[in-house]
Amino acid sequence: MGNLEHSCGVIGLSLDTKVAPFAKKALRVIQHRGQESAGVAIFNDGHISYLRDMGLVHEVLRGSEYYNLTGNVCIGHVRYSTEGESKASNCQPMTVTTSYGDIALAHNGDITNATELREQLSKKGWAFLTTSDTEIIIRILAKEFNETRDPIKAIKNTLRMIEGAYSLTMLIGDRLFGIRDPMGFRPLCIGRLKEGNVVVSESAALDVTGGEFIRDVLPGEIIEVTRTSFHSVRTPAPKNPAHCMFEWVYFARPDSIMECREAYEVRKRIGQILASEHPIDADVVVPVPDSGRAHAIGYAEGSGIKYEEGFMKNRYVERTFIMPVQKQREAGVMLKLNPIRSTVKGRRLVVVDDSIVRGTTLRKLVQMLRRAGAEEVHVRIGCPPIVAPCFYGVDMKTRGQFVATGRTVDEIAEHITADSLGYISIDGLVKALNIPYQDLCLACLNGEYPTPIPGERQRFQTRLNEHGQ
Ligand code: SF4
Repeated sequence: MGNLEHSCGVIGLSLDTKVAPFAKKALRVIQHRGQESAGVAIFNDGHISYLRDMGLVHEVLRGSEYYNLTGNVCIGHVRYSTEGESKASNCQPMTVTTSYGDIALAHNGDITNATELREQLSKKGWAFLTTSDTEIIIRILAKEFNETRDPIKAIKNTLRMIEGAYSLTMLIGDRLFGIRDPMGFRPLCIGRLKEGNVVVSESAALDVTGGEFIRDVLPGEIIEVTRTSFHSVRTPAPKNPAHCMFEWVYFARPDSIMECREAYEVRKRIGQILASEHPIDADVVVPVPDSGRAHAIGYAEGSGIKYEEGFMKNRYVERTFIMPVQKQREAGVMLKLNPIRSTVKGRRLVVVDDSIVRGTTLRKLVQMLRRAGAEEVHVRIGCPPIVAPCFYGVDMKTRGQFVATGRTVDEIAEHITADSLGYISIDGLVKALNIPYQDLCLACLNGEYPTPIPGERQRFQTRLNEHGQ
């Protein structure tokens, strides 16, 4: 809920005008995907210049240092570290210089064979400057480009070596590419502005920059983006993709459309299904702002119980998401939310949130509502229990951190001090998404991973065993 950290967001633009102001606007729209660092790399006059640092987009991309960056083609990035430490040297886009020109790369996701690749390459004498898996990709890409001098061949050869989740934007000299991994874990779409063309993590960035959504980048697709055109190159992709269900449940902006499904609509449907799976006699439905709002609206619609705001959110409190320690983040969330007594006092509440990871914040919120006079507090959650780690770009790395590990739903309800607790079922979630079960990643819910992960069960394992794989 709310304080689970996102992975990252990427953009790429090729325009007939100075690109810097557009890049900043687009990155601000996808700021929710990463608030630790921001950056752009812009091609101009034979070279790639960059500006990147720790901080929010408006703090990093400002002043003459930014607006003096001229050039019409660029990539950009907002980051929350999932692999690699949170420090300035890991900020993106990363850039390298080869004998045949500069390369810049922005990455959203996690490379699952990064450790093996780093070891193999280190043994061959390669040195790395950062702890980020993005550096592994760009160094392999630079070597391949030096050898082939053909951007498409270099990209294809690089993709053959890396495994896991990646949506990439990349500059090879002045040529801009957008790439999505063969499973399509993280979103990436293309769109058109009056001034040129765009590739970006979420479609909402197109609306805000005055653009028009064209389509999602397909799993395994490489798209070269020019000012006037898109050129598509397909790489081998398995029959079934593995779109991350969490993008719709929580990560993406409600107004973003991925795989033809708007996140807001899906969240409302989740709430409606949740109401039918876990009905309760109550006076009012209350969202946990802001992440549970659409789910709560859906629950209210589905149950016929009226919807009211139960928490006031202080928007001006310091940024909790960059606080490195969980305890600090929780304290920050408490500073942010305060119960609205007229909604809460003497009422039986249904509190709706998008998901529970650790449960500590929700426990504090339930207690806060009781102190404000709530008669009963029933909690309803728009994502099934999270029981397994994510290896694909989300900050959920160990089973020990999940409140659902080793607890029944009743025990979790007791832990968060709720009168009752109900999670949407996996079937209910899949129905709300209206995407075939086999085309989704649900690994953190059922422990079945779409790609081989040492020590973990693979998706469709029975089928794979039957085929001797
Ligand atoms: S494991 Fe969970 S969070 Fe990670 S990609 Fe799969 S569905 Fe998304």
